[in-house]
Amino acid sequence: MTRPAVPPRQSALVPLSQFVLKVHSRCDLACDHCYVYEAADQSWRGRPAAISDEVISQAARPIAEHAAAHGLSTVQVVLHGGEPLLADRARLRRVAAELHAALRGVCHLDLRIHTNGVLLNEDFCGLFAEHGIKVGISIDGDRAAALPRTPEARTGRITLSRSPTMPSVLDAEPGAGIAVAHCASSLSR
Ligand code: SF4
Repeated sequence: MTRPAVPPRQSALVPLSQFVLKVHSRCDLACDHCYVYEAADQSWRGRPAAISDEVISQAARPIAEHAAAHGLSTVQVVLHGGEPLLADRARLRRVAAELHAALRGVCHLDLRIHTNGVLLNEDFCGLFAEHGIKVGISIDGDRAAALPRTPEARTGRITLSRSPTMPSVLDAEPGAGIAVAHCASSLSR
């Protein structure tokens, strides 16, 4: 009896096309479900707060080299934290400019930022519109759901309802490409 032919092995390696770039490693909230800032491992306290110019360049270059080597048509980069809006606008502008410059002529850059939205204002939205940065906002529930779990006494803030400027920002910057994500943890309690 002959053995059935074994199909040729397919490579499981797929080139990366999405990168998460941590631009600030502190947060302006203190959610009690946070596995970074509110858990036992407090080693983040000893790390730099914001991405340096050197690291911005060291991140942009290899992403472009990787995209070129694999012939990618699009690369998605998500600016993350901590809370990325804690990085000042000048730093975020440098990050966007470096990434756009590195990937120009290589592939399309799908640049995004994921924020809790507390600091979001017209100035940030103008920057995002200028650099084609899409915005994802994570919301931990309405005021009633978020208050018992976020120590407003410490921060004076909760997500959407703690950002008095956000509704007007969303109205004023319809071109800013803003999407809102609701944190599922608030729904399970
Ligand atoms: S907003 Fe996110 S990073 Fe900040 S404390 Fe809450 S869960 Fe942690």
